[in-house]
Amino acid sequence: MKAIKGKFLAKGVHVPDQKSLAMDVPIEVMDAPDIVAIGVQQHIGRPAEPVVATGDQVYMGQLIAKETGYISANVYSSVSGVVMGVEKRPNVGGTTSDYIVIQNDHHYQEMKLDPLPDHESATIKARIREAGIVGMGGAGFPTEVKLSPKTPVDYLVINAAECEPYLTCDYRLMIEKTEEVLAGIRLLAKALGEVKIVMGIELNKPKAIALFEKYDDIQVVALKKAYPMGSEKHLIYSCTGRKVPVGKLPADAGCVVQNVATAYAVYEAVELGKPLYERVMTVSGKGCIHPKNLLVKTGTPYDAIRENCGVKDETVKYIAGGPMMGPAMASSNVYTTKTSSGFLMLLPEETTEDNPSPCINCGACAEVCPMNLLPMQIDFYTQAGKYDLAAQYGGVRNCISCGSCAYVCPAKRALTQSIALCKKKLAENKGGAK
Ligand code: SF4
Ligand code: SF4
Repeated sequence: MKAIKGKFLAKGVHVPDQKSLAMDVPIEVMDAPDIVAIGVQQHIGRPAEPVVATGDQVYMGQLIAKETGYISANVYSSVSGVVMGVEKRPNVGGTTSDYIVIQNDHHYQEMKLDPLPDHESATIKARIREAGIVGMGGAGFPTEVKLSPKTPVDYLVINAAECEPYLTCDYRLMIEKTEEVLAGIRLLAKALGEVKIVMGIELNKPKAIALFEKYDDIQVVALKKAYPMGSEKHLIYSCTGRKVPVGKLPADAGCVVQNVATAYAVYEAVELGKPLYERVMTVSGKGCIHPKNLLVKTGTPYDAIRENCGVKDETVKYIAGGPMMGPAMASSNVYTTKTSSGFLMLLPEETTEDNPSPCINCGACAEVCPMNLLPMQIDFYTQAGKYDLAAQYGGVRNCISCGSCAYVCPAKRALTQSIALCKKKLAENKGGAK
């Protein structure tokens, strides 16, 4: 179906693209290092429970940690080898959690899931759950749960915006694995029942738009380049014209959103019997000597990726994910997960000084906030330890952590950190006031 124009995102920011660094670099398979550390908490929800012990022989694609509840996900080994232990190791965000450490024998002996008896909705959903598939656009929410909304939906919205500057892994999947991504999208639609498929692709990816508009069952929506076009609520509005009310879910507007990499993982799980244990990630930034789109096994140390792609001496910052939403990394001695979409190595010219000055009440942060919040109020009350007031006057509970406010702040206020701290405190206090 010929692509149509999407509705315009009125707020948000325009950030320099930087996709050209890795956009034309074909996906390369990275060999995993001698030791991988596979986290039991690679998703939103309860951590998985290890089902292997020290000394066990495991195979690539073998279940090594089992889901522990409705919002949880299975974890599979990404290599064959021997389990060295279950240890606390650092996460990208600075916390620690349990990791299953495996000595890689480099034979990659594989275990597959059983072939499916049919491709009915319930069977597809059960396979997606069994395979440990979670939202690979960054959120890590178990995909099967999203495919089982409480109210009926009539739209499957495929998030192919990839609006984070630098990231090109979804783009490469779309142009190198078009048929497979398409098959995954159709399986997702089948799992949902009778739905229309819309696919939002930013205009800076004309090749991808041309490839997918050839299919009659998919309505491609060409999106104006803007950030955060890939946020669920904005994508839904741009693609369908529907608004998701504040505090509500996409399903309340009749929509389920899934990302391109997730669709690809669904294809692999359903058609090939392959659980989720590897993914494509973009390694980029001007500090990276050889920017790439790498197919990386989960549990690969970022250090090994840095070695594979090379880093310039002048590099001052590492980021996991995209520069707008991804956290700065204190160390690259951490491990990839199902949601690792990017690894950026940035030079001084690509980063801003972390030297905040007092707020000058310019209002720029509120002007760009796509959720119509008051980020300066969130920051003010958070700094004063008044998290409930940050929620009341700043609206932090509706924040989508897009980073647009911090991007435009002339005073370089650490708005992203304030917001993250405030959300954490509110969660700890179960929304209670301090
Ligand atoms: S307050 Fe939240 S939603 Fe608004 S711009 Fe800042 S990070 Fe984005
Ligand atoms: S953009 Fe920065 S300086 Fe301006 S009002 Fe917001 S926090 Fe204050």
